[in-house]
Amino acid sequence: MREKTIFEKIVDKEIPSKVVLEDSDFLAFHDIAPKAPVHVLIIPKKWIKDFNGIDSELMGKMSEFILKVADVTGVKESGYRLVTNIGPDSGQEVPHLHFHLLGKKKLDANFG
Ligand code: AMP
Repeated sequence: MREKTIFEKIVDKEIPSKVVLEDSDFLAFHDIAPKAPVHVLIIPKKWIKDFNGIDSELMGKMSEFILKVADVTGVKESGYRLVTNIGPDSGQEVPHLHFHLLGKKKLDANFG
């Protein structure tokens, strides 16, 4: 059986997190090792390994949810970066789809 990811444990409140926004399908919480003054992770509550596995209906809802997170974190107008890592070459550490939302800092344009 597949082991629960750390993010599923966060959804199930087995591990604490600093929640930014939540609804029945998605959770947004502060990254434990922030790379910018605003660094929020946005995940579907249902386990999906990475972006390759999302369908368009859920992605549509997730886009709306991400825009709300951008709003409540105050970066919608000042600007932000939205990043999702997919698979080994990207350096994805947690195999549970998540978007990083980073803002309130002038970000380096070099993606490496
Ligand atoms: P990625 O490399 O895209 O898989 O990113 C995983 C992210 O999860 C990293 O930025 C970590 O700092 C973050 N992270 C890992 N464990 C936790 C946790 N318990 N709470 C919040 N963020 C976490």
